[in-house]
Amino acid sequence: MNRLQAPAIIIFALAFWPNFTSLDAAETSWMCAAGSAAITPQDPVWMGGYAARKEPSAGSVHDLNAKVLIIRDDQGEQLVIVTLDLLGITKELRIAVEERVVAQGVSPNSLLMNASHTHCGPELRDDRILRYGIDATYAASARTYVQNTAIKIGNLITETLQRLEPANLYYSRARAGFAMNRRLPTEQGFINSPNPQGPIDHDVPVLRVENAQGRLTAVLFGYACHATTLSFQKLCGDYPGFAQQFIEATHDGVTALFLNGCSADQNPYPRRTLELAKQHGQALANGVETALTTKQFRKLHGPLFVEMGHATLDFKVPSIQQINEEANSDNKYTRVHGEELLRQLETQGRIDSSYSDFPIQVAQFGTDLTLVAICGEVVVDYSLRLKQELGQNEHLVWVAGYSNHVFGYLPSLRVLQEGGYEGGGAMRYTTYPGPFEATVEERVIEKIRELHRKIQTKRTTTQ
Ligand SMILES: [Zn+2]
Repeated sequence: MNRLQAPAIIIFALAFWPNFTSLDAAETSWMCAAGSAAITPQDPVWMGGYAARKEPSAGSVHDLNAKVLIIRDDQGEQLVIVTLDLLGITKELRIAVEERVVAQGVSPNSLLMNASHTHCGPELRDDRILRYGIDATYAASARTYVQNTAIKIGNLITETLQRLEPANLYYSRARAGFAMNRRLPTEQGFINSPNPQGPIDHDVPVLRVENAQGRLTAVLFGYACHATTLSFQKLCGDYPGFAQQFIEATHDGVTALFLNGCSADQNPYPRRTLELAKQHGQALANGVETALTTKQFRKLHGPLFVEMGHATLDFKVPSIQQINEEANSDNKYTRVHGEELLRQLETQGRIDSSYSDFPIQVAQFGTDLTLVAICGEVVVDYSLRLKQELGQNEHLVWVAGYSNHVFGYLPSLRVLQEGGYEGGGAMRYTTYPGPFEATVEERVIEKIRELHRKIQTKRTTTQ
């Protein structure tokens, strides 16, 4: 080594070593606990994810689970993260869980619920079963399932709150490559097909929780990819279910939780066999293992700040002529959508043209990490944009979609203007009138900025 090389090596080592600068910040005494409960339906149920299903579930590959990770700082601020091996989260499920946790002193703002979006889970939306003329007994069992699952999640949170113990938190990340953009431009518009040129987010963010003895107790990890490897009639967590299973098998006594990212326009490829779902699960678990062993990690400091707010998003409302055309369509799903809008017109005299309580959460761990949780099926543009905009000065940013209410697709302005399924076509499977207005992305981003500013104000007033 000559004298010129030495400083370069020191600079290299500082850049890639754990964040020594953060040791100057005040140490936070975190209290954490994690737990898990099986929520696998016991009887055959109608399954969500693919409208074209013709029959109920026939057994399961493995358990579907609800998991909880509670993180509390020494000021008592807390984040209760609930991850679910389910297609989505309905308003009914969110409200039922909120009611149970509020009774235990947990603020609804602190409750972050996230769905893996497995397409091999139960259909939670009883109205959807009824709208498409599926046997009504499955609508009744969907309602019962939602109620029972809310009770299980509530009990799991209660039990986990009693096990809080001193902990240290660390963030690191790796990569996994099986997600690919699924919006392929063609002369007929954007179709659902692998697009190697389309935007992706291959980050695997990992939150490592260790107890005071340095033992790994929980691993929260994310990825941006639809859980659509499988489309068969068995209940299964798809690749996120397998990834969690593999991590828990490798680390005895650890709870592994999957926090779904901005996966709306991302698919796992190749797909359609159980073996491939396991392979993608293993690929993601390998990413997590890499993130657990890398020396480039950040110890997370407090204080913790959590804010939740609601954006108002506007829809383009179709003309009465367009609605009538829909209601007379040969396509069942388009027809049912048109009929629903006609019913709204008849009963209310107008069509609901906005979604006024679109939930967004922002949690910040000291000056180290910001976690943003957005409602709906969020396209990847949001995580790419927010990581750039909020991630200045080595500040870490983690963006989750599929949080708190999975109503349908949330396009960026780009995807909205391009059209196709995620741009507005999928709205026909909902009771919302039509594609979002062009303000959609800025409304969401502005609400996130507002919550972010609120946290900065709180931080300066508590310092
Ligand atoms: Zn989806």
